[in-house]
Amino acid sequence: MGGGHTMISVNKIQVKNTIVELDGDEMTRVLWGMIKEQLMFPFLEMDLEYYDLHVKHRDDTDDQVTIDAAKAVEKHGVGVKCATITPNAARVEEYDLKKEWKSPNGTIRSLLDGTVFRAPILVKNISPAVRNWTKPITIGRHAYGDVYKNSEIRVDGPGKAEIVFTPKNGPAVRKTVQEFTGPGIFQGIHNTDTSILSFAKACFTYGLDQRQDVWFATKDTISKTYDTRFKEIFEAEYEANWKEKFEAEGIEFFYTLIDDAVARIMKSEGGMLWACKNYDGDVMSDMLASAFGSLALMTSALVSPKGCFMYEAAHGTVQRHYYKYQAGEKTSTNPMALIFAWSSALKKRGELDETPAVTRFGEALETASRETIEAGIMTGDLVALAASNDNNRRVDSEEFLLAIKSRLESKLEPG
Ligand code: NAP
Ligand code: MG
Repeated sequence: MGGGHTMISVNKIQVKNTIVELDGDEMTRVLWGMIKEQLMFPFLEMDLEYYDLHVKHRDDTDDQVTIDAAKAVEKHGVGVKCATITPNAARVEEYDLKKEWKSPNGTIRSLLDGTVFRAPILVKNISPAVRNWTKPITIGRHAYGDVYKNSEIRVDGPGKAEIVFTPKNGPAVRKTVQEFTGPGIFQGIHNTDTSILSFAKACFTYGLDQRQDVWFATKDTISKTYDTRFKEIFEAEYEANWKEKFEAEGIEFFYTLIDDAVARIMKSEGGMLWACKNYDGDVMSDMLASAFGSLALMTSALVSPKGCFMYEAAHGTVQRHYYKYQAGEKTSTNPMALIFAWSSALKKRGELDETPAVTRFGEALETASRETIEAGIMTGDLVALAASNDNNRRVDSEEFLLAIKSRLESKLEPG
């Protein structure tokens, strides 16, 4: 059957359904191209729906390309995104842009109503600052409301500070915040049941997906209305829609006070998904990123309450390295988190499409990447972090990718 010609691509693994690809900017765009060239195209036959989020193309399309990309992720369920510039005044000048376009991540997150989860990539020769963290801790940050959308007033002198709610129909409700006898400050914050519920759904979706316990914590003993509402919504959603599925997987939902959560996490071995209120997530995600070693080893997944997944690196476009690259210098930018964005998208596609060969490829790519670092071959950022060993060798980005590639080839079954 078939002539020799049909043999050309038979060794490539077929990815059945579409992956939405969102290209980006600067050094990560360079690495993105190398990853596809070295680690994707030689091994996979895939249908990529490509959206170019290069800042200049966002500008040319009045940011329509970002909206189209988000809709495509919603349609196909799986996306993979490169890091992108969020323009500020300097970027408007640098790229001659029409305006300071909004953060693409913010736009995509709000269109998908999604939650961002960050998790570190663990390698044996880089120990976390907290010795007992042997498993990755995933943080999910609620990215709506609270102090990030507040109204605040600085008080000059004596007077009464109040909060007032005026319903559409009905009398106003007022509460005194403080009777000031001298200068001071106060603020009003809010959240919505809809947003909290979406957050809870995204956390349970991703916890189940990753087979991780979900922890959630607030300060409901002090904030008996505000924080208690978060707790109630999480508990009701868990009981109604997740308890049985979690129990079937042998995982659980654990609610506690935020200070108790912090104390327990420090002593834990890790391995949980920690759902955080907006401020807690802001603070704790930076603490965890630094404790686990390197921003270049931090992955990020955007999960929508409907179950769409978009994977990316947590870091930005690594601007400083890009200018060196443009000047013709060899760069040693770490592509690990970008590779894991691709491997995660492939594993997800494999799971949804029921194509185990694709899932296995994603896993093999992750193992090959980890083992390359564990064998002492690493980019500059990791050399100082890794356990010292005579074999440790600093390589540039391309040499690193090629080392991963040859390891990956040796893992894949021949033929
Ligand atoms: P960044 O790109 O994350 O880089 C900050 C510094 O962290 C780098 O200068 C580098 O340190 C180190 N670093 C980060 N990733 C690395 C990697 N893969 N390998 C080696 N070192 C790495 O943050 P930024 O420079 O503040 O932001 C640059 C642009 O990225 C901005 O325009 C911002 O809008 C955008 N951004 C995008 C996203 C996103 O799309 N998700 C997220 C954050 C920022 P050294 O210079 O010391 O080597
Ligand atoms: Mg922060």
